[in-house]
Formats: sequence, C-alpha cells, structure tokens
Amino acid sequence: MISVAEAKNIVQSQQVNWGTASIPLEKSMGEVLAEDIKADRDFPPFDRVTMDGIALSFDAFNAGEREFKIQEVQLAGVPATNLKGREFAIEIMTGAILSVGCDLIIRYEDLEFYEKGSEKWVKINLDEADRWKNVHRQGSDQEKGELLIAKGVVVTAAEVAIIATVGHHEVCVNKKPNVAIVSTGDELVDVEKEPLAHQIRKSNSVAIQSSLNQLKVPNKCFHLLDDKEELRNKINAILNDFDVVLLSGGVSKGKADYLPEILEELGVEKLFHKVAQRPGKPFWFGADKSGKQVFAFPGNPISTYMCFRIYFIPWLEHNLGRQVEVRTAVLKEDVIFKPDLGYFLQVRSEIGNNDLIEVYPETGNGSGDLANLAKSDAFLYLPPGEQLYKSGNSYEYYSFDISSLA
Ligand code: AMP
Ligand code: MG
Repeated sequence: MISVAEAKNIVQSQQVNWGTASIPLEKSMGEVLAEDIKADRDFPPFDRVTMDGIALSFDAFNAGEREFKIQEVQLAGVPATNLKGREFAIEIMTGAILSVGCDLIIRYEDLEFYEKGSEKWVKINLDEADRWKNVHRQGSDQEKGELLIAKGVVVTAAEVAIIATVGHHEVCVNKKPNVAIVSTGDELVDVEKEPLAHQIRKSNSVAIQSSLNQLKVPNKCFHLLDDKEELRNKINAILNDFDVVLLSGGVSKGKADYLPEILEELGVEKLFHKVAQRPGKPFWFGADKSGKQVFAFPGNPISTYMCFRIYFIPWLEHNLGRQVEVRTAVLKEDVIFKPDLGYFLQVRSEIGNNDLIEVYPETGNGSGDLANLAKSDAFLYLPPGEQLYKSGNSYEYYSFDISSLA
C-alpha cells in the first residue's frame, strides 16, 4: 500500500495534453488561455481626454492667459480638431481625442462661460495647472506589442474586457478532457426511482457530474451492473470514446468487486491500488497504452467524493496549465486518530483572526455517512505518524467549494 504523497505524485506525473480550441470570447470565462494576448495598439491608443471641459494651449495658460474664445465643441468619437491659435479654446468631452495644438484640459468645474455678442467665451478660475493635465497620454499604460496577458491565466471578466479591447472575438484556450462517469453496483437505482428495501439511490455520479459541469468539463454518466461481461464490454467501449474514466465502486475486496481484474484485462495498467488513507483506502488508479487515465474510486459516497476532490481535481487543473496552491487551515480541536493512515478529516470552516481559516471536526459516522457531508465544508489532511493532532496546528485544507477553480 502506498502513501497519500506517493499516490498524489503518481497521479500528478500523468502528464496529458488535451489540445487547444478557439472558442467565442463570451464563452471563455473560467477557461485557461492557450495564447499570449498582446496590445494591438498603444494603450490608450490616442491622447485621451479624461474630463469634460476645455482643451487649450498650456503655454498660453502658463503665460497668464485666463480668458479664451471658444472655437468649437469636440465630442468623443470624432477625429481631432485643430486649435486655430493660442487665444482659442475648444470645448471637449471625456473620451475624445485631444485636439491638435492643445496640451491642457481644464474641467467645467473651474470654468465660467459668457457671451460677447455672438461669440462664446470662457474664463478659467484656476491658478495653476501642469502641461497634459487631464490627458491620458497615448501609450502611457502599454505600448503596441506589449504582453497584456500571458498564456496559462484563467479567464475572468477582467481578462474578457482586455481581450475584447485588443479585438479578439475568439480566444484560444486549453481543451478539457471528455470524462466518463461510471457508477457500478447491483444495489443502485436511479435518483427518480423508489428503492426497494435492499436498494439505494445512486448519488456518486450526480455529485461528480455537478462538479464537472461547474468546471465546464464535458462529461457523460453511465451505470454498470456487477457483471464481469457487462463491465468488460462497456468499459472497453467507454475507454474508446472518452479521454478519462471515473469509476465508482467495485474496487474493494468484495466478491463482486471485479474492476481491478477487468481493467487490467482491458490493458489499463495499474499504477497503484490501495492508498494508506481514510476514507478511500481501496482507490485504484491506472492508465492505458494510449495515455487515458482511469480513476476507480471506492463506492462509499464520501470516499468517492474525497478521492475525486483530492486526486482528480488537482490533476485536472495541473494538466490544464493552472497552478493551484494547496491551502492550509488551523485545527481548532484536538483530534485523536490512531491508525497508521493519512486521515482526510471532514471539517467545518470559519474565518478566524488574520483571515486564517480555522476548522472544527465534523466526523460523523465515517465514509458511509453521506448526510454528514452537509455539516462539513472541507477536508483537512492529517498526515500519518501522529496519534494526537493538536488544536492550533495547521494542516492541508481542501474546500468542497471548487468555484474558485471554475
Ligand atoms: P463498493 O465500493 O462497490 O463496495 O461500494 C461501497 C458502498 O458504497 C456500498 O454500500 C455501495 O452501495 C455504496 N455505493 C457504491 N456506489 C455508489 C453510488 N454510485 N452512489 C451511492 N452509493 C454507492
Ligand atoms: Mg459495489
């Protein structure tokens, strides 16, 4: 039996590239960029006016001139006008290109307008101003060709805005694998069915599917009976059609736990079976010759969910080119755990002093106690080798909430 650390290493060392795809920009939220985004022009692309007011010559202002004749009005979205001489000012609006011959904007708040016959004049009530005041100079943020977003970044609405402004209506992102979710077991019935006394409803596949949908990973659910022939044929077909297979159930020591044997028969090489952990000890992991991964999780809902969260999610993120750091949290009650196994303790989290995550054990009745998942919101990993895990110590923390990855 291997340790949690070894199992994680083996899983993470499975490097896969699912290729890239061009997708519409508005569908790219949460995807990982597979291309660098560069400035297609200067940022800003022209000397941009940042206040409604007047444009004028700084030299005139600096020489003490405070009254100017209004030459014309220039709105945003029209080509630059030309200042006819330093005795003139142009009324100008935010977002407009700066008029030629002007290098100062004075805002309306500092102006008084008046009329001389049919002429419009302005008086400036301001003692001092610097050249280029209220002008966002061309190229002052970024120059044309500069890198704005490097590949590997996860797209949020902020990146969408930047990508849009450089004119990409499509964007190249890392493709996600097509995942088969396969539950196994004769005792399982569909969610909408009324189970008989000896039956239970399938919950593992829906939980995994919901997480994959949240991460926008294409997926499909299957259910197979504990029948060697059915398992062999269907898993073979599924391996052909999907990039990754997530199985649940059928990997323990039971008489109907056929999966390890069948997977090897189908040419899926076992990379490990059994991890020194609780829950999820019987976890089986392998890959076939074409480099497709099979995660066979023990069927207990908490084991399935834990293995999916601890092993599959970080592996997926890694292969999509995302760096996700493992967080830590402070244990707030002593925990005694004697078996020589890594323990994924279910915990309830609070935000403590200094924004540290503080967690309280919510152990429930073990890996069969599905309802207890609702009381907890994360796993805290207590590594083997100790028996008393003391309040105040920090350990690796795995939130159930994966929305920050989505
Ligand atoms: P197994 O790993 O097949 O021995 O299953 C362990 C336990 O988990 C059994 O009590 C199963 O009934 C239960 N189980 C297996 N698969 C599922 C599933 N998809 N949804 C809910 N419970 C399951
Ligand atoms: Mg089973």
